Parts: sequence; structure tokens; C-alpha cells
Amino acid sequence: MKYFIETYGCQMNVHDSERMAGLLEQSGYDPADSDRDADIVVINTCSVRERAEDKLYTRLGEIKEMGRDHGRDPLVVVAGCVAQQEGPKLIKRSKGIVDLVIGTQQVKMLPMLAQQALSERPPAGSLWPKADGRIAIDNPYEDPSFPLGVVRRGDPVRSYVTIIEGCNDFCAFCVVPYTRGHERMRSRAEILADVREAADSGRREVQLLGQIVNHYQAPDDPSCDFPALLEAVQEVPGIDRIRFASPHPRHTSARLIAAVRDLPKVCKHLHLPVQSGSSRVLALMRRRHTREEYLDLVARIRAAIPNVQLSTDIIVGFPGETDADFDETLSLTEAVGYHGIYSFKYSERPNTLAAKRMPDDVTDAEKKRRIVALQSLQRSVQSNLFQRSIGTTHEVLVDATSRRHEWELTGRTSGNTVVNFPGPPEWLGKLVDVTIRRAGPNSVWGETVM
Ligand code: SF4
Repeated sequence: MKYFIETYGCQMNVHDSERMAGLLEQSGYDPADSDRDADIVVINTCSVRERAEDKLYTRLGEIKEMGRDHGRDPLVVVAGCVAQQEGPKLIKRSKGIVDLVIGTQQVKMLPMLAQQALSERPPAGSLWPKADGRIAIDNPYEDPSFPLGVVRRGDPVRSYVTIIEGCNDFCAFCVVPYTRGHERMRSRAEILADVREAADSGRREVQLLGQIVNHYQAPDDPSCDFPALLEAVQEVPGIDRIRFASPHPRHTSARLIAAVRDLPKVCKHLHLPVQSGSSRVLALMRRRHTREEYLDLVARIRAAIPNVQLSTDIIVGFPGETDADFDETLSLTEAVGYHGIYSFKYSERPNTLAAKRMPDDVTDAEKKRRIVALQSLQRSVQSNLFQRSIGTTHEVLVDATSRRHEWELTGRTSGNTVVNFPGPPEWLGKLVDVTIRRAGPNSVWGETVM
């Protein structure tokens, strides 16, 4: 029996898919090359953006067609945030395509429920509609501990380690507290065991994950906050690089800045979501920081770590966002000089404060205009930064061979810039020094220093 997992959304979802793969393989399933060869197709969903949710239904339609064309009837599982959010509605709306809906805290039940669902299926040949789907949606508030189970790490170089699940912040636009539940911290001991396991399996980079990763406080060690955890991970032999996502500006303390500066394995990159450059909109969003506080934080980070690279998330067209507010987002984007941004048009997400109380009053045409303007500005900011990097030399962790040429490798600098350069595949997972020679729109090209 073979499985195929398709993942949408953030690194947290990528890591949940690795956990599902690990559990399925432990139960005797093998990975399939595509959904066409799979007996179980898992779609691990994201509901942070409306478009990601729409993609799910498009994919379900494609799977149905693929089944009809090839006479196949894979078990279809929907996991992740849309599963958590929609539950039984998803079974109904999919018109019998979905067999199993797994909530965000029920990942460990996947092999058992898949086995049950497979054994109860109608005889082969009776494709859709299937028997009633099964639903495993938990109440995350009842689950204080969450051992994560086996992981099949999909990336040969990078490993994800969850340190916090859920979030208590309830930003007005965000669905995460409703889909992933309240904030739960994993123990320092469990986290370090995962990091050691990742290092022992040959992974050179670890990425610590949490919705507000820098809010970490170890439940098993009162002295271990996030900077102290970074210090502990720094000591794990075999790990060359430590990244983390995403820190909240509000919890980015002087101690954390010093830890990023002083710990050699901690990458000099901070993904610091700002969401808007207008203090008025930030207050409506309930972000609990102002434009001025954010810019002050950026100035302190840059003073402490001159070579740091910053990236961010920005939403345009939040309810009530005026042209003047949006101009403040543009000016902040320019002032900070991000190496990368993830920008989104606002869309109402179920249950959120904004969906309940704030009319979605910026037209779609205006949202489009704003996102085009923001992305165009960011392209020019990024291009200038990449141009300025020409001639500089960086330590690059090789993480893949290029899709274009087999002699070309790609990797990332400590600051998270993607670098392409010639080299043999044996360098995968190694740190090499590369001098930047040419800049493209999203990455740079270079050559190794001999
Ligand atoms: S901090 Fe805000 S945006 Fe981030 S996960 Fe929590 S509620 Fe969502």
C-alpha cells in the first residue's frame, strides 16, 4: 500500500506532513511518486488565505477525475487547518470524495483511522460517491501534552522541530487560534531529543517552529526561555545552522537579539511579521505593536547585527485601510529594506474578529492595485540589495541540486538569500564559501572560493 501527501501552507504544515509520512511508514505504507500510484492521498491544507482553501476543492475535483480516468479509488484524507475548521461540512461539500477528515491535533490517529476506513470501503469499482466519511476533529483545549510521534523528514539537509503549537494572540484577521488551538509549549527535553535525532540522521540545519516562536518558555525548565533554548540547541553536535519562524516583534527582546548576534550557528536572518505600516491599522488588527515600535526594533536589531537580513508578512486591504494607511505600509517597506516579503490581499477568515465585526470594505480592485504597488516596490528594494551583494562572499549551506542543470547547486546564506553556483552533487549538505557574481530578481549566482 502506498501513500501520497500534498502539502499547502507554512513550515508547520510541511512538518505535520513529515509526521504523517513517518506514522504511515511505521504502519507499513510506502511513499508513492504521485497521487496516481497512491492508495491513500492526504491533502494537508492551509486556511490562512482564502485562495489556499479554494485550492483544496479544486484538487479534490482533480483527484476525482484522475480516479475516473484511471479506474482508481484512493482513500482521500483531508488534514490540516481547513479540516479542523470545516469538519463535517467538508465531507458534505466534497460530495463524497473525502473519506477522512483529520484535525490538526489528531495527526497521530491517521494510520489507525485510514486502516479502519479502508477496511469499511465499498467494493472496488464503486467509485464516487463513497460511504460516509470519517471525522477526527479534536478539542485542542483538552490535550495538554502532545508527543509528536515519528517523523519522516522530507528534506535531506533541513529539519523542522515544533517547539510551540497554537496561539493565544487572536490577531483580528487570523484563523490560527481557531484551527490550531491555544498555545502549548513542548518540553525542552523533547525538543532537544528531536534536534539530536535530526543531527544523527544527517540534517545540518534545524528550524524551530512556533506561531510565536519567541514566546517559548519550557514547561520542564523555568530557566529556559527562547534565547536559552537557542543556546541549548547551539550545543547539539552535528547541527551547523539554526533558524526559527516566526518571531513576534513584541517578544523580540534584547536577549534574543544578543543571542542571534552571538550564537554562531544561529542564522543572521529574522522573519519579523509587520502586517501593516500604519499604527491605526495595526491597532485594528490587534497586533499590539505600533509602526514606531517596529521601526525602533528594526533599528536596534540592525545596530546589534549589521549583516542581518529581514523579511516580513504584509496584508493589504484590511478593513478600514485607507490610501494613507497603505502609503505608510509602502514607506515602512522601503525604510526597512526587507530581503523578502510575503504579501497577501485581505480575505475574511471564519470566526475571526475581523470577519465578525469589520466590514470587508476595501474593494477587490483596490486590494489588487495595492498589492501590485507593494510587490513592485519590493522587487526594486530586493533588486538593489542583491546588486549590492555582488562581490561579497558568504558561507552557503548547499540544500539542493538545481532543476535547470545537474552541475548547478543551490543553497542559502545565513541571511537566507538563495544562491545558485556550479558544484558537484556530493556537496549537498555541506557549507561552502561562495562569492556573488550576478543578481537575479529572487536569487543570486556565484562561484565557490577556492
Ligand atoms: S500572532 Fe496573530 S497572526 Fe500570528 S498566529 Fe497568532 S493570531 Fe495568528
